[in-house]
Amino acid sequence: MNTKFMLDESRIPKQWYNIIPDMPGPLHPVVNPQTLKPVTPEDMSVIFPMSLIEQEMSTERWIDIPEDVREKYRLWRPAPLFRARRLEQALQTPAKIYYKYEGVSPAGSHKPNSAIPQAYYNKQAGIRRLATETGAGQWGSSLALACSMFGLECTIYMVKVSCTQKPYRKSMMQLWGATVIPSPSEFTNAGRSILAHDPNNLGSLGIAISEAVEDAATHDDTNYALGSVLNHVCLHQTVIGLEAKEQMELAGDYPDIVIACCGGGSNFAGLAFPFLSDRANGKKVRCLAVEPASCPTLTKGIYAFDYGDTAKLAPITKMYTLGHDFMPPGIHAGGLRYHGESALISQLYHAGEIEAKSYKQNACFEGALLFARSEGIVPAPESSHAVRAAIDEAVLAKEEGKEKTILFGLSGHGQLDMMAYDAYLSGALEDFEYPEEMIRQSLERLPKVSF
Ligand SMILES: *Cc1c(COP(=O)(O)O)cnc(C)c1O
Repeated sequence: MNTKFMLDESRIPKQWYNIIPDMPGPLHPVVNPQTLKPVTPEDMSVIFPMSLIEQEMSTERWIDIPEDVREKYRLWRPAPLFRARRLEQALQTPAKIYYKYEGVSPAGSHKPNSAIPQAYYNKQAGIRRLATETGAGQWGSSLALACSMFGLECTIYMVKVSCTQKPYRKSMMQLWGATVIPSPSEFTNAGRSILAHDPNNLGSLGIAISEAVEDAATHDDTNYALGSVLNHVCLHQTVIGLEAKEQMELAGDYPDIVIACCGGGSNFAGLAFPFLSDRANGKKVRCLAVEPASCPTLTKGIYAFDYGDTAKLAPITKMYTLGHDFMPPGIHAGGLRYHGESALISQLYHAGEIEAKSYKQNACFEGALLFARSEGIVPAPESSHAVRAAIDEAVLAKEEGKEKTILFGLSGHGQLDMMAYDAYLSGALEDFEYPEEMIRQSLERLPKVSF
């Protein structure tokens, strides 16, 4: 009985899948935060190379992956797909549970799938340095890795509280040659203005994005790279789902439900979009995005135009949002603490093409522990949201006495997250209530835009 489904290197996808031509309806315009008019490619070219801007707006269903990028992917791709037989046994479920494991990348998550092409296209465009933000540190370490592979400098604005909570992520970025700056910092106007009001500010992803965008916009040789949310990031991540589809075929199965955790949405998009293309062709497959109850963007946010960052420098997009200045409680799944959501995923959710669900963190760690004790792999706190939802689907199948095939995304490993596991094991992990009042206040400050 097989539990591991491997593809050889020649099966690394040669093209990414672009969902834009298969979306339910036209895309909403992306709005320039200064002019409040639709963003033009020229606006975006201040911080992005033209090749990525073209991908951001492309209506081509398939986009070639450069050979140089596939060459780098070869380090760890195709990533394995496992059948979680021991977890199935532990749950006594009639459901079959599969998971696609992205923790085998050098940085330990799915994020290098996009960091590598982003570094590649910037290098091609003659850029010398990339600036970015990082919350929990996974994106920062992935971009540091990618920049070192292509000989680019890398400046990372790391949310200040994470610098102390995740010191080893900082070390990883530095060992790959990046410069790490705790955010808010004195290096940018955005950082200085926050510190002027609040010298002890611990930072947020929104603030760090503002600093990195400002850095890129004010230096000709420097561009900005974003680790999630944008269409081209979702595009790059589709290698996950494209491989998973082939591997499910090897296993002789097809999922009834595809589950992934959802922060800005890139790993969810990466796994789910290739299956949604089957759905567009009449296949019955459910896709479920799982988010933290303390940052419930899809399940409790509203579908509206909002800024991508706190300082209102990033474009305004129509998305599910909790408000651009919403500060989520300090949960351990730092990668899921973003106020907004990918525009593509938002539109799919609004159209009823995908489902969403939220969990509190203790429930997720409980699932992660059961998973680690049956399958061996320690999930990243972010990924534990998908683990928990997959377990609940399998338990439901048992209660209903139904067979079901579940595929979930294990977006990364949690070996650098032992502080979080310690907190859980010692019973010190706090569950936060749904921050309704904070969200309500934050939503009062949405930009007044309508298209
Ligand atoms: C960053 C991260 C996430 C969340 O980001 P998405 O863009 O929503 O995928 C999920 N899992 C891991 C392991 C991450 O590092």
